[in-house]
Amino acid sequence: MTEKKHSFFYNWGSVTTIVPDIRTQEMAARAKWFINMRWLAILACTIGAFIAMTGIVPADVRPIDFFITIAFLSITNLFYSRIGRNLFGDKSRGRELQRLLLCQMFGDFTALSFLTYSLGCIETPMGALFMAHIILATILFSRWRSLVIAVAGWMYASVPLMLEWAGIIPERSIFEGQFKSMVNASLGVTLGFVLASGGVYLFCWYLVSEISSSLKLRERQLEDAHQMLIKIDKEKTQSTLLATHELKAPFAAIKSYVYTLRDGYCGPLPEKAQNVVTRIGDRCDQISNRITDIIHLSNLRTLVVTEMNLAPVDLIDILCAEAREGALIAEPRKIKIINLVERHPPVYIMGSSDHLKTLFSNLIQNAVNYSPENTGRVVISVENYPGKIEVSVQDNGIGIPKDALDKIFNDHFRSKNAVAHHAGGTGLGLSIVKEVVVLHGASIQVESIVGRGSSFAISFKTIEAAQEKHNYGEHTDN
Ligand code: ADP
Repeated sequence: MTEKKHSFFYNWGSVTTIVPDIRTQEMAARAKWFINMRWLAILACTIGAFIAMTGIVPADVRPIDFFITIAFLSITNLFYSRIGRNLFGDKSRGRELQRLLLCQMFGDFTALSFLTYSLGCIETPMGALFMAHIILATILFSRWRSLVIAVAGWMYASVPLMLEWAGIIPERSIFEGQFKSMVNASLGVTLGFVLASGGVYLFCWYLVSEISSSLKLRERQLEDAHQMLIKIDKEKTQSTLLATHELKAPFAAIKSYVYTLRDGYCGPLPEKAQNVVTRIGDRCDQISNRITDIIHLSNLRTLVVTEMNLAPVDLIDILCAEAREGALIAEPRKIKIINLVERHPPVYIMGSSDHLKTLFSNLIQNAVNYSPENTGRVVISVENYPGKIEVSVQDNGIGIPKDALDKIFNDHFRSKNAVAHHAGGTGLGLSIVKEVVVLHGASIQVESIVGRGSSFAISFKTIEAAQEKHNYGEHTDN
């Protein structure tokens, strides 16, 4: 039975990804929700106007009042959605979003105040609609700002009744009952209504703001704990780096003594001793590779990456240099490196030359290490796509078993067939590859057939595409 080809696509995202803070996300979602709800309110007003025109409800409601409200809400809502379109996708404009939400709230208060007056102030439960805005304000704004909004809501809800009482605007009653006239005639009753509704508004504000304050506090504590974990992790990596660095020098000395013995500079050794010393030399090579990998990986993980670290680099140039290096380790095992990009024109990406060298060197070394002696072939090629370039390193080696494909980028992971074929690996090479891929906001696709070979294809954004993304402030790659 022939092994099937299996493939795996990895995109860990870019380190330059700016995760929008939760509050900005929440505000964008609420601002959008508000806009959608307003269309519903406009629909409700249209139904109200229709009912008023047909006169099926025994109330003196003027359709014109609904039309004015519909016109006002439609114009303002179109304006909000136009402004919002530029803000919703942008994670860095929390302030503008706040302003947009405030604008929406006060716009709605104006419309609601007018409608409250048109529908007889105390004769309909319009005041409840102010409450919805106050509750949202406590969630989205600081405590004191939401209090200002709650008081403003109360004012907007009460002003028509007060103005009617003062005789500044004509009294409106949709049920033509005695009740409204009685309320309007007495300052005490009018004030009673105003104060009672104010009390209810403020009580609701207090209740919801208490709950939302404790939720916000939890959110902050979680964020602090998260930052602390990141810090501890960094410190841990840094101390590993330090300890490994300290091992490096004494170990290099041990290695050079062993080589001196092995290569006969201290005179010939008995055959048994020569064998042992040769084996010690091989182990020294393995440990020294491991030390280099650990230092490299820790360096990459503690790196604070900003786009400042990246500069335009010619990918083809780096690839060709690494292909030549790879040929040096491939030649003794009679493995061929076939470089198809030698004559390719330069392709620039925003990158770190040193890290890209490590990345290609690791992929090419793996391809050589896991290919058969004498018949091994490693093909290096690129494929151009609009705005991106894909670099492939392909071999006809042992392949990667399906169940190992999703683990090969984990630290120290080595598949069984890899251990059997090449004992000297560290299991850190692809972890380094992963870090460099993330650093460059690239993605990687691995395809393999056990016993037939593997292909690693990395897709980079070319410089124009990277530049465009940078200019428009979009940093997510998923
Ligand atoms: P190492 O090669 O030192 O074992 P890596 O992190 O470079 O560590 O690779 C992890 C594992 O991925 C390898 O042990 C092997 O199982 C698998 N692998 C990577 N590249 C290849 C390849 N070209 N062919 C087959 N297996 C590979």
